[in-house]
Amino acid sequence: MANPTYEIYAVKYGGPYIRPACMVNWFQDMDKTTRIHYYIFVIRGEGETIVVDCGVDPQLAKQRNLADYVSPAEALKRLDIDAARVKHLIVTHVHFDHISGIQLFPKADIYIQEREFNFWVKDPIAQRAPFLFVTDSVANRYLARQEGKKRLHLIRGDKKILPGIEVLLAPGHTVGLQAVAVNTAKGTAIVGSDLAHTFSSYQTDIPSAIITDMVAWMKSFDKVKAKASSPDLLFPGHDSGLLDHYPKVAEDVTRLA
Ligand SMILES: [Zn+2]
Repeated sequence: MANPTYEIYAVKYGGPYIRPACMVNWFQDMDKTTRIHYYIFVIRGEGETIVVDCGVDPQLAKQRNLADYVSPAEALKRLDIDAARVKHLIVTHVHFDHISGIQLFPKADIYIQEREFNFWVKDPIAQRAPFLFVTDSVANRYLARQEGKKRLHLIRGDKKILPGIEVLLAPGHTVGLQAVAVNTAKGTAIVGSDLAHTFSSYQTDIPSAIITDMVAWMKSFDKVKAKASSPDLLFPGHDSGLLDHYPKVAEDVTRLA
């Protein structure tokens, strides 16, 4: 079968949240705020459904007092997806808003960079304050327990995980963040997650303020830009425009490509 193509959906499960603009785009607009959302992304086609990131578990949402929140499992129902039966789960990185809901996907194969896994599960540095701030320790313990199971795919670098879908190691925000290159009707699109919080990050070269390695981040920008068929196929992780500027297919769900 030649060149399978997929559609990409943004599923908002949280927000809007108001953040200092300089957190969302490093050192920019120090006196302003920005509106962001929390999303899960869905890649669909060729009879397959691939979920990108897990969202926040209802328990943690309560602890963190997340307003305007629905369980990721509820949000996915709007695309007729039963989280409990999802077969493919790509984890871009292990920050709480991307990993916390992992237990909602008990049947899924999990695709994560080995570096990212090892850092959050094994490296004592991950227990230091700046990292704990973005950690869901319950989810991380669950992730740790998957080691050695067939469902856990620890990936080293770039890898095609299904025809037309390739994960790309793209560190900077975290030690082993991965973006997803997806073959769509418009060409290769990048589900970049927090490689950029906003569309403007890709245009200005200014990342978010949560930085593990700035040099690596710049190289990751170069890498995904070279891979995408056009700049408008680079999708960020938290931009409110993902919801506002694309065709709506269900409540808080848009089709990006
Ligand atoms: Zn995030």
